[in-house]
Amino acid sequence: MTGVPDILWLEEIRKEDIPSVGGKGASLGEMASIGLPVPPAFVVTSQAFRRFLVQTKLEEPLHELLKSLNVDDNEILESAAKKAKELVNRAKMPDDLKKEISTAYEKLRRSGEIVAARSSATAEDLPDASFAGQQETVLNIKGIENLLNAIQTCWASLYGARAIYYRAKQGFDHHTVNIAVVVQQLIPSEKAGVLFSSHPVTGELLTIIEGSWGLGESVVSGAVSPDKYVFDRRQERTIDRLISPKIIEIVPDGNYGTITRDVEPSRQEVQILSDEEVKRLSTYGIVSEEHYGVPQDMEWAIVGDKIFILQSRPITTIKGVVTAKKETVTASADSVILQGQGASPGIACGPVIIIEDVRDIGKVKEGDIMITRMTNPDMVPAMRKVAAIVTDEGGMTCHAAIVSRELGTPAVVGTRKATQILSDGQIITVDGEKGLIYDGAIVQPPAAAGPAQTTVAAAPAKIITATSVKVNVSMPEAAQRAAATGADGVGLLRIEHLILGLNKTPNWYIQNHREDEFISELMNGIKVVLDAFPGKPVWVRTLDAPTDEFRNMQGGENEPIEHNPMLGWRGIRRDLQSPAQFRLQIDTFKRLWDLGYDNLGIMFPMVSHPREFILAKEQFRQAGVDVENVDLGVMIEIPASAVLIEDFIKAGIRFASFGTNDLIQYTIAIDRNNENVTDMYWPKHPAVLALIDTAIQACRKGGVEVSICGQAGSEPDMVTWLVEHGITSVSSNIDAIAKIRETVAKTEQRIILDAARKQYGC
Ligand code: PEP
Ligand code: MG
Repeated sequence: MTGVPDILWLEEIRKEDIPSVGGKGASLGEMASIGLPVPPAFVVTSQAFRRFLVQTKLEEPLHELLKSLNVDDNEILESAAKKAKELVNRAKMPDDLKKEISTAYEKLRRSGEIVAARSSATAEDLPDASFAGQQETVLNIKGIENLLNAIQTCWASLYGARAIYYRAKQGFDHHTVNIAVVVQQLIPSEKAGVLFSSHPVTGELLTIIEGSWGLGESVVSGAVSPDKYVFDRRQERTIDRLISPKIIEIVPDGNYGTITRDVEPSRQEVQILSDEEVKRLSTYGIVSEEHYGVPQDMEWAIVGDKIFILQSRPITTIKGVVTAKKETVTASADSVILQGQGASPGIACGPVIIIEDVRDIGKVKEGDIMITRMTNPDMVPAMRKVAAIVTDEGGMTCHAAIVSRELGTPAVVGTRKATQILSDGQIITVDGEKGLIYDGAIVQPPAAAGPAQTTVAAAPAKIITATSVKVNVSMPEAAQRAAATGADGVGLLRIEHLILGLNKTPNWYIQNHREDEFISELMNGIKVVLDAFPGKPVWVRTLDAPTDEFRNMQGGENEPIEHNPMLGWRGIRRDLQSPAQFRLQIDTFKRLWDLGYDNLGIMFPMVSHPREFILAKEQFRQAGVDVENVDLGVMIEIPASAVLIEDFIKAGIRFASFGTNDLIQYTIAIDRNNENVTDMYWPKHPAVLALIDTAIQACRKGGVEVSICGQAGSEPDMVTWLVEHGITSVSSNIDAIAKIRETVAKTEQRIILDAARKQYGC
């Protein structure tokens, strides 16, 4: 044994103690040491867990169960996970360990009877909770027997199906993984939530606070639309408040666990935080940010006039503050070793890791620079870890580009030869804005690093425009970042990223009679986005995955091999020919509408003839949807749909949105993902503009909202043209919103001024 005790109190813990107390435990100890108001707690260390495994002789059976497990077979995986969890849950905890925990619990009880048990991952061998969704937390525990049960439940969560899958794919050994459990006084909060010490997207000195009634789990899990407060740290005042109807709250229930209950109508619309509380929370944010040296994502709880801080970790969406601190590259042109398209802004340097195919993703470490021919959905877990991404193939709208932008990771795509000329371990610098790769680490940090150096842009939410500026989202985990831009809604939610992430085709769920599972996965993902945009339109697009992306998934074995999947069996054509698959999606949307999400609109991709819209609408009607009272619209991605726009309007579309990524490729026959013809990919080609103009004018005349959600909607030049031609909304990537909002505002002002000058002859 290592000599580390089974129990450590917060006061004994520092941030270096992750191997014993896990990330959560170490962070709490560090926070307490700098005087943040952290509720008292002790940690059952990872050494205690190991001792439990050894003394109960569980190591061997667990090893047997998990060794050479085929994790790609879901049934085998689920059954092994169930058995492993049962082994851990049912084993009898050694008496001396029980006694130590009881003694510590007795001591903790002096400050409050109710406690929470939170799993605390000890290394990279467990993904973050958003990926695994498996690390248990048990809230509201009263009594030692309940506590011991909860601790075993947390330990058992190390063997959840997704955690096992993740470790297998990442090459971690199940035999050596560890887990610690934080046992902490539960704050029976009247209100609670999260805060970002600096703006989570731009890094500006704005504290963003979200909160709701009851325990913070309702905010963290996205179950409620929280109030939102923006506190300007320089002016020291609250500059924006958004009070949302807080319909439910999560509260302690009896002696174990929580319940979700309705909030009485009289409290739903009440502003939960006073200006004074917002200011105090912001101060704690600043203390933590200054201590750790990077902006923090924190959880807080309030009872009476007491504030507690429950969690503090770096904001990952700012990507190592790379963008916030405005680093610059100081290098001569001759250290540029590669060039491609800058697909996701930001600068990062680190060691190269070459990924030939998905089997290599286990090699990827935090901070590496991932080099690959082209990314695919299986690589997303690894893409979350890396500092930057570089691909051989692809253009601004390929998988790597879309996912990197949402993750906020710098990326350069279409370099043609990155995998050939770079080698593992080589240190490089990637400029995701300019599309350049430099040899060596040549990032020049700001003159004096630190938040005070952050360049301050105008708060994006403050510019009001007549043309709505919406945001594109592909991954629910990006919803909060997307909402933090202040966008007027979501102009495109691509669901294929969500579905491809399940690793099983919709057809697999149908064949295995697990339709409900599919519906609930899809529904939960979409709900996260809807909740992030209360009262604002969210246009969800029906499935548009080409056959080649389905083929690697379970259930995708019989996908047809197509010469050109881009022109193949995808989008609405496939859904209309696969009624069962379409029905799964419609049932999901219907449930959301039934739950009251009337901001949900549905958009059909790849339509080429109005009859496809009519047939699709009919399927919705047959599924019991009140089709005249929901927003159904189409993407204009095929020239045919722009030419026939008037017939679409007659067929009853409520909105149309230009998918220029495809519209351009189909109009001028340039493959959007082929780096050999990238130079000829021309968004403002006169033929493309003529099609767009035709459709805008017809939609305006027909009173139909007309928007754009292709990449061209993130380009100021194109957006200027679109606003001049009367588009009613634009939808851009998260990183482009501030710039696009400014472009739209300037263009609108110029149009108004020009009109006034004309009228008054000045
Ligand atoms: C488009 O074609 O412009 C679009 C937004 O869809 P996708 O990029 O998913 O094909
Ligand atoms: Mg498209």
